[in-house]
Amino acid sequence: MLEPLYTIKIQCVCCERTFETSRVRQSFKKAIRTDSDFCAYYKEGHNPDYYVVRVCPNCGFASTENSIAVLNEVQRKLYRDKLGSSWTARDYGGKRTWEQALQSYKLALLCAQTVRDKERIIAGLLQHIAWLYRYKDETEQELRFLRYALDSYVRVYEVEGGSVNNARLMYLIGELNRRLDEPYEAVKWFSRVIHDKRIVDAAMIRASREQWQLLREDMLAKKLEIPEEMKASQ
Ligand SMILES: [Zn+2]
Repeated sequence: MLEPLYTIKIQCVCCERTFETSRVRQSFKKAIRTDSDFCAYYKEGHNPDYYVVRVCPNCGFASTENSIAVLNEVQRKLYRDKLGSSWTARDYGGKRTWEQALQSYKLALLCAQTVRDKERIIAGLLQHIAWLYRYKDETEQELRFLRYALDSYVRVYEVEGGSVNNARLMYLIGELNRRLDEPYEAVKWFSRVIHDKRIVDAAMIRASREQWQLLREDMLAKKLEIPEEMKASQ
């Protein structure tokens, strides 16, 4: 029997020492189901999301493969002064529990904020933290981090502009608004994806239509006023 985990060697982007971190094998990565905001569910113990963050046992710097690839001296100093100096040696190299996965994401978030990594990285980390709480039905914490993720994704959108390749991002902003009970904001974002003729991402257009419909039914049930753009078409 093939073990679900295997080990790779990583060079720390901060202290440059080499360390080992685990990953889930491709054949174990198949999700059982996925939520409308892309939160995926896997067989017990094989969640590849638990292993996205690599934590250096030497200096404590935590990042993902999409994070900043090289730290400059200013960033190294920022990290050492704010976080690294209080790091106590811990190894996240083997199999991770839910608690360790959560800790690894929170470490990566602090590191990304400290060295001012890309907003997209920060948004993704916040969203993953929300998902971890969702796995445990800790709804209050889930929604708290979904809200942070939403604010962060809106900043990504503002920086990257309305590029037509951003249909997935626009859909996601709509969906996070829907989940956070901001129906009018959600409608605005879904409508953009549905009506912008330059967008050709069929999967995201379909998903936006589905969530738009769901939202409409929900708003009717709650006797909320239906926005104009929802009355015209269906
Ligand atoms: Zn390190």
